[in-house]
Parts: sequence; C-alpha cells; structure tokens
Amino acid sequence: MYEIAIIGAGVIGCSIARILAEYDIKLAVLEANIDVAMGATGANSGILHAGHDCETGTLMAKFNYEGNIMFDQICEELDVPMARCGSLVLAFNQEDVNQLEILKIRGINNGLKKIQIIGQQKLYELEPSINKDAIAALWTPTAGIINPYELNVALMEISQLNGAKYYFEFCVSDIKKSNNDFFEITSSSGQTIKAKKIINCAGVFADKIAKMVGDDSFSITARRGEYIIFDRPTPVNRPIFQVPTKMGKGVLVSPTIDGNFFIGPTAQNIEDKLDKSTTTEGINVLKSSAQKIIKDLPYNRQIGSFSGIRAIPSTGDFILGESKIKNFYNAAGICSPGLTSAPAIAKYICSLFDYKKKKTYSTRRKRIINFKSASNQEKIELIRKDKRYSNIVCRCEVITEAEIIEAVRRGARTVDGVKRRTRATMGRCQGSFCTPKILEIMSRELGVKVEKITKFGGNSYIIDSDVRGDLHES
Ligand SMILES: Cc1cc2nc3c(=O)[nH]c(=O)nc-3n(C[C@H](O)[C@H](O)[C@H](O)COP(=O)(O)OP(=O)(O)OC[C@H]3O[C@@H](n4cnc5c(N)ncnc54)[C@H](O)[C@@H]3O)c2cc1C
Repeated sequence: MYEIAIIGAGVIGCSIARILAEYDIKLAVLEANIDVAMGATGANSGILHAGHDCETGTLMAKFNYEGNIMFDQICEELDVPMARCGSLVLAFNQEDVNQLEILKIRGINNGLKKIQIIGQQKLYELEPSINKDAIAALWTPTAGIINPYELNVALMEISQLNGAKYYFEFCVSDIKKSNNDFFEITSSSGQTIKAKKIINCAGVFADKIAKMVGDDSFSITARRGEYIIFDRPTPVNRPIFQVPTKMGKGVLVSPTIDGNFFIGPTAQNIEDKLDKSTTTEGINVLKSSAQKIIKDLPYNRQIGSFSGIRAIPSTGDFILGESKIKNFYNAAGICSPGLTSAPAIAKYICSLFDYKKKKTYSTRRKRIINFKSASNQEKIELIRKDKRYSNIVCRCEVITEAEIIEAVRRGARTVDGVKRRTRATMGRCQGSFCTPKILEIMSRELGVKVEKITKFGGNSYIIDSDVRGDLHES
C-alpha cells in the first residue's frame, strides 16, 4: 500500500515527487507513457516567465512569480542548465506601447521589481538582429530559459534516488475508493496498486482522472501549439514576444538553452487531446507572424517542427488542492506558465500534508557528462577512463557512446529517451546518420532485439523486421 500515488510524470508530478520523496512515506508515480516529459512538458517554449502575463490575484500569477525565483536553487541542486537571459515584448505602434504599459503595471502588481519599458536604442543594443520597425519593448531581466525535459528527467532521478517508485506504461483507467479508505487504481493493462491518497497531475487528461472518483468540477480543453526549430547559431539572445492576444502570448522567437532557436507556438483548440501533428496552416501562421520580429529568418537552417498540447482549464486558473473527494488532490489545468510555476505549485501541494522527513535523503544529482563541453584535458581523462568516450555516435551534436550508455543506465528505453538525456539525434541531420548506431548500442545494453526498440513507446517501431543479419551482433 502506497501512502500517495501521483498520476502523471510531467514536470508537475515529478516536482511534487521530488519533495514528497524526502518524506518518510511510500510514494508511487504512475505514468501512462514509457518515459517522463512526454506530455506538455516535453514540447513547450522552455521559458521561465518573469510574471507579467497573468491576471493579478490568480493562482497563475502567484505561482509564476514564486516559481521563477525558485529556479536558481533547483537548477544548482539538480545540475540543470538555466540562463537568466531576460525577455522582451515588442511594440510596433502606439497601441502596442499602451499594451506594454498595462503589462508593466500588471508585472509590478504581481511582484516584479526590475520591469521597464525601453526605447529603440537599448532594444537594438540588446537584440541587434530584430526588425527595426519596433519602437519600444517591455524588458524583464528575471525571465529565463531552460530545457524542460532535462529538468523533468532530473526531477525524476532525484525522487527515485530518495525512494519514489515509478510505474511507466501504467495508464490509469479506473479508480475505486474502498470502504477502508484507500484507493484502488487500475491500469488499462489490468495492473492494480493501492494508495491512501492520490495527486492528479495528468495534464490534458486530468479531468478524465478526476471524473473516475466523482469529481466533475472542471474540464480541460486541449490547445495545440506548433513550432519550427532551427540549427545554431541563434539570431536572438533571449525570448522575444509580441503583445499578447486573447489566445495567449502569441508567436515568439527564442533561443534554446542548447543554442538553437525556434519560432512558435501557434494556438489552436483541438478535439483529439493526443493530436501532436504539425500542419501546413500552422507553419504558415508561424512564418508570417515571426517575420514581424525578425524579417529574414534563415529557413535554410530549419531542422524540424513539432507541437505541444496545452491543458486549458474551464475555471480559467490552475486547479490546486483537495477535491470534494477526501484524499483526492488535483494539480490540474496547468497551462502556461506551468513550467515556471512547477516548483511553487509542488511546494504548495506538499504543504497540505503533514509528514516527517526521512533521516537521510539527497538533494543533489549530477547530469550526464557532456563530452563536447569538457575541456581538452577532461576529454583526455574521460577517454583514458572509458574508451567509449572516443566513439562519437551523433556527429552533429558530438555525443559519444559512453553518454548513450549512461542514458540507458539511467532509464532511457526509447530513442527519444536517449535523445532527451543526451541530445543525440537533435542536430542538423535529426538522427539520419546516428539512429542505427544508437539502436545497436541500446539493443546491446538492454539485451533486446533491435527491432523491438521504439522511438517513443507504443507501436513507434523504427525497424519493421531484421533487415540485416548482423544487426544484433557486437
Ligand atoms: C505549446 C506550449 C508552450 C508552453 N510554453 C511554456 C513556457 O514557455 N513556460 C512555461 O512556464 N510553461 C509553458 N507551457 C506550459 C507547460 O508546458 C505546462 O504547464 C507543463 O508542462 C504542465 O506539466 P504537467 O506535468 O501538468 O503536464 P504534462 O507534462 O502534460 O504531464 C502530464 C502527464 O500525465 C500523464 N497521464 C495522462 N493521463 C494519464 C493516465 N490516465 N494515467 C497515467 N498517466 C497519465 C501524461 O502521459 C503526461 O506524462 C507551455 C505549454 C505548451 C503546450
């Protein structure tokens, strides 16, 4: 019997797991997918919003502001790269400038101190490549960028280190409350676990999970956001927004923490909550909207497109706390700025419980060594200790065999799992050359046939059949 079962291993579920795993309780995390970060957390803008977008007085505004501040310590403890590069919202006419004034006042009311409107001269000093038609900008130096799935992996690893048990491919399909006051949670494949409390962090499906216990107080609409991602170098130094609309913060241009850049996201409500396709219409919207920020984007360096699905709550705000069903808690409707808010949401949810801390627990974990960013001396040392550092598998991103093996050792079961932990396949060729080599290494390390390895779980097989007799050797 678990004390608590968290449903959903996105950034919210895993942020909560990180704190709860420090307590002296049995903790389970149930995830429908084969890995963490496969919902909204795996496909978003990766921006740590400063906090001027949300209406003052909402939970979104409160947790955005508080969460943003908490990232310095979390990233230091979990060894996750983050940059406080600030963000800009551009104004192209007087009406836009009026909007910036509103955002600035809202930002101040939400707690921001270093928020200001800057003129053209400072704007072009900060961002020389942007469209010279911009006449002013809102400058918030406390905004930042982070790799959301690297954070999600780190949160899982630290909670596992402290005893949290993760059940992957456990798609919750039924929850029954027994007379003895515990929940019996059943997966679609018939597996069952028992827990005294449940925390519902199931993203776009949080309404479905809540209904399983009789909580129909909210619904979630899926809103898809499409992106185009470009190869390095980035023409901008920080996220650059246009003034927001009713549908959200609009299309922006932003660097990633790894030095690439993207344009996006679009905002389109969709029926199928799992429909992560990209569309010609979406791509056209992105191109025409982003050219307001940068006139001549280098589309010859476009390396991919993807989309993520926002969980828009019917209540208009985050849904946090115990539901009308005793011992069933929601952390639901966590749309943007949910990534930024995650540490503060987790702290709040965990403050609702009264458990004792374990005698010992870890607060730190180290990321996988990145051979490419090591100094020459460090590279020599690494290769001396382990020859597999000298075998470069992903040439675009310079990822070695040793790094891929370490990703598998830490729990990667799919090619995307390796990608999210190492950046292998994320370069210009998008895995055209290295995927077969990664499959061979994974097959060997996991002891499974190469054709059994998937891209992201389910039926996403990469190889249909054993096309080459020697694929399983080595
Ligand atoms: C396009 C886009 C851009 C965004 N940009 C930003 C940004 O720049 N900054 C920011 O702060 N926020 C941003 N966000 C918001 C942020 O990504 C989300 O708020 C955050 O990732 C939500 O995390 P989560 O854990 O609630 O949801 P998810 O990451 O979706 O995790 C929910 C998990 O629950 C699992 N699950 C669902 N049903 C079941 C079931 N039946 N059984 C078991 N498991 C289940 C899912 O598989 C999934 O892994 C953006 C979101 C999108 C989509």
